[in-house]
Amino acid sequence: MSAYDKSNVFARILRGEIPAKIIYEDDYALAFPDIAPQAPVHVLIIPKGPYTSFDDFSTSATDAEIIGFNRAIVAVARKLGVHESGYRVLSNVGVHSGQEVPHYHVHLCGGAPLGPLLS
Ligand code: C5P
Repeated sequence: MSAYDKSNVFARILRGEIPAKIIYEDDYALAFPDIAPQAPVHVLIIPKGPYTSFDDFSTSATDAEIIGFNRAIVAVARKLGVHESGYRVLSNVGVHSGQEVPHYHVHLCGGAPLGPLLS
């Protein structure tokens, strides 16, 4: 993937230039609802650093950022009350996945049975 584009919509949310309903924030991550939810619970969790994708993050971020971000995902699941019923964590990477926003994000979906992953 190409270099990080600071004008992407999630970078603008991180800078406070675009409003979002923040449901969780810590030193490593920010979480907000997806504007087009695909499940009763559908939130996006993004790292605070400038990473384009899961692939970029996993090769370029510090260990502290990776651990902190993953811990933020489970903290969000607990905050939303889906950790016992179960949930899905998914991240699109690059063109073939259909990734739209070039700032690493994971989709956390739950709140009802989700069905097969690829349907
Ligand atoms: O993983 P992918 O990049 O395809 O998904 C981007 C997601 O970001 C979409 O689910 C879209 O609804 C969401 N989105 C959002 N707020 C925006 C722009 C996109 O929640 N302002």
